[in-house]
Amino acid sequence: MSTLVIKDLHVSIEDKEILKGVNLTINTNEIHAIMGPNGTGKSTLASAIMGHPKYEVTQGTIEIDGENVLEMEVDERAKAGLFLAMQYPSEISGVTNADFIRSAINARREEGDEISLMKFIRELDKTMDFLEMDQDMAQRYLNEGFSGGEKKRNEILQLMMIKPTFAILDEIDSGLDIDALKVVAKGINEMRGEGFGCLAITHYQRLLNYITPDQVHVMMQGRVVKSGGPELAQRLEAEGYDWIKKELGIED
Ligand code: ADP
Ligand code: MG
Ligand code: MG
Repeated sequence: MSTLVIKDLHVSIEDKEILKGVNLTINTNEIHAIMGPNGTGKSTLASAIMGHPKYEVTQGTIEIDGENVLEMEVDERAKAGLFLAMQYPSEISGVTNADFIRSAINARREEGDEISLMKFIRELDKTMDFLEMDQDMAQRYLNEGFSGGEKKRNEILQLMMIKPTFAILDEIDSGLDIDALKVVAKGINEMRGEGFGCLAITHYQRLLNYITPDQVHVMMQGRVVKSGGPELAQRLEAEGYDWIKKELGIED
């Protein structure tokens, strides 16, 4: 089992404090959801975990099995088993999707232990079938001209191929039609297991109809203010966030 532990995390962007003491522990074999109103720091948390240079950690710790993640460069974080699906995945011209995925897999392996081309192609074909993706997506340049739905599906393809220990999925469900949403959920559910933990950030409860999270956390004003089981997401869907604000005495 592996554990990702975030303790008292404070993060600033351009000297403005956005995260004000986030605490969160995720084990492998668990799926956690973070919900919360817009602008409360959910994406900031994802970016800070992945080491985006614009996000300055001013206090607190992030550790995987006791290893200090904050001391690692971005590529070292990926090597340590972290995977981030961006809210707005970027385009990389001149790199095919297949090449990108293969390099990412090999970056996590020792020299001399790279995945063979045959094995890679076999796994890629199988996974693209599973995700109901067009085979020509593999040879297209990364994210170039991909529709919103194709980008998200592609993030799940990357996830299933790279097999990270912990995935941070930021609004992987936004802008998806119901069929694409089901495919994305199918991929995440397929990953669920002993070697995999997931933090799914979502603005809507919708995704959680297809992925049952072990824990649901509510983020407001830069902190995790409430945690519970799947029933918490259902209550948020039905009643919004006002009752939590009242309960905790949070002003808008
Ligand atoms: P959420 O994902 O919960 O909607 P964000 O983490 O995106 O919230 O944003 C939290 C706050 O940080 C917002 O007030 C937002 O304006 C600010 N913020 C986020 N990213 C940046 C940035 N790159 N530069 C300046 N401010 C930012
Ligand atoms: Mg955010
Ligand atoms: Mg966001």
